[in-house]
This record gives sequence, C-alpha cells and structure tokens, in this order.
Amino acid sequence: MESKIQQSHPLQQTSQEEAFIHVENLKKHFPVSGRRVLKAVDGVSFSLRKGETLGLVGESGCGKSTTAKCLVRMHPPTSGEIFMDGTNLARLSNRSLKPWRQRMQMVFQDPYTSLNPRMTVTSLVAEPLLAQGVVKRSQDAQELVVNMLERVGLSKEHCARYPHEFSGGQRQRICLARALVVKPEFVVCDEPISALDVSIQAQVINLLRQFKEELNLTYLFIAHDLSMVRYVSDRVGVMYLGKLVELCGAHEIYSRPLHPYTKGLMASIPIPNPAQARQKQTAAMAGDIPSPIAPPPGCPFHTRCAHCLPRCSQEIPKLKDVGGGHFVACHLHT
Ligand code: SF4
Repeated sequence: MESKIQQSHPLQQTSQEEAFIHVENLKKHFPVSGRRVLKAVDGVSFSLRKGETLGLVGESGCGKSTTAKCLVRMHPPTSGEIFMDGTNLARLSNRSLKPWRQRMQMVFQDPYTSLNPRMTVTSLVAEPLLAQGVVKRSQDAQELVVNMLERVGLSKEHCARYPHEFSGGQRQRICLARALVVKPEFVVCDEPISALDVSIQAQVINLLRQFKEELNLTYLFIAHDLSMVRYVSDRVGVMYLGKLVELCGAHEIYSRPLHPYTKGLMASIPIPNPAQARQKQTAAMAGDIPSPIAPPPGCPFHTRCAHCLPRCSQEIPKLKDVGGGHFVACHLHT
C-alpha cells in the first residue's frame, strides 16, 4: 500500500515538494536476549533534495549504517516513514518494492568482501542488470558493462578477470560500476573509502563527485569521522546512540559545531600542528559510548559530556533549528 507525504517537515530546509528522500521518525530496534531490545536507530528524521549529498557521521555503533540499510530497505524499519519521490517505501511489500530497488543502490565499505571471488568482472557488473530486468540475457548486457567500466576508469580488457586480480581501489571501482550500471537516482555510500589506501581515497571521492554531477545523483555518504565527509557533503548529520544530534550545512559544521559530541568528533580529527593538537585535546570526549541496549536516560550523551546540566540526565533534548537550518539536540541551545 503506497502512501504520499502529507505534511511539511521541520528538518527540511527547502519546501516539502523539493524533498526527494524524506525520513520521518525512523526506528530500528533489534530484539536481543530476554525481553531487551537494541535501539540501533531511535527516532531519526531528515530530508534530502534531489542532487544533494548528506554526510552521516558518528562513532561505530551509532546507527548510521542501520539507518542507511533501512533507507534502501535492506532492513525493514521497526517504525517510521521513508519517502522517496513522495512514496512511502516503509509501507511497501517486497514485491511492490522491486521497481524502487533499481532507483536506489548501495556501495559498501569493503570491496574485498562485497565482490563474489568466483565471478568475472563482466558477470559482476551484469548481475544487477539481470536482477532488475534491465536486460533479459547476459549477452545483452555486454555493451552496458563495457561502457560502465570505462566510465569508472577500467576497460574492456578487465572484463574476463576475477576480483583477486585487482587492487583495492580497482575493486571499489567495480563496486561503483555495479551500483551505477542500473542508473540509480539515490546511492548510499557506506564508508566507501575507509578500507582503501589514503593515496587511492581521493580517486574514489573524485569519481563519486563526477558521477554526482553527470547523473544528478543524490548521496547519503556515511563515515565514522568528519574529515572524510568534508569534501563530498552539502550537509552533514551527526548521530549518537541511534539519534541525530546535529544537522547543518557542511561548512557550518566545521566552522561552528554546536553539540558537545560534534566538537568531540572534530577534536578527534588528526591535525599536523602539535600546538593546535594540544588545544584540541580539551574538547576530546571522555569515556566510552554506552550500550544501545541500555542507553542512559535523558540526553544520550550526558555520561560523556563536559557541559552536563542537571536536566540533561532527565530530559531528552529535541532536535531544534537554532537558526539558518542549523539543527541541534542539546539543552545548551534551547
Ligand atoms: Fe551535554 Fe546536556 Fe547538551 Fe547533552 S543536553 S550534550 S549532556 S549539555
């Protein structure tokens, strides 16, 4: 059963009609032993315009990858809405989702494990074309496969080779070719460069930017630290313990981070100047991230926050616009 967007959303900087992807109060809870649940994603809302890149950052286990997997419906959400082009994907059956799957693709972190080692490059890139019914027979995919390989910087000569014959950067290019060959509109990039050598990372980032321009792609770009999303994102969202705690323009998050957790993440970006590095240490976070099975009451960050107020351990701060589309969930900014 499809349903359409009914209301405007507070996290949308543009009008609702311009929202291409719109996520409303998304929750993904996993049952664990006994009657306990792991709240991997706990009430996340955001929107993306067509052609926009939203970077999503946070430490491991903060829920960013689970959010992404819910968006492309690799995980069914526990509750909440996921609109794409006005249609609520969260309410669609697997069968009804089929035409939408071609429009949204995912590029994973590890190009070493995401490619079947027994398949040739041709078979790997042709596979999504056959699965989505773009072509009926693998012979019909050949021209599309070669064209796509050339666009990601590989060539016809690579077609008959196997994944183990390629470097990490080349494998990620094959993964990109697999994702883009079906001409998606929305691509989730889940830490697509973190498994690659630093020297190769810029090449993959440049390819992603080039395809964004050429194909008007909308990206959700996931990274565990802020330095990675700097050059690709229009806006950046910061997640902590399954919640979005800050969301604003990419430039703004670097020049004027407001949430103490975001400031802590900024402090963890390595910088070459030792004097500046010492200064930054003051903003670094104490302690470990609590378990999402037993999150602390009130503000989820209060167990690590140097600015904790009495109300912080009792009251969950709401994500609010503090001006100019800069959203933050912190009692210091109410
Ligand atoms: Fe720190 Fe309180 Fe803000 Fe949470 S709400 S980040 S504990 S000041």
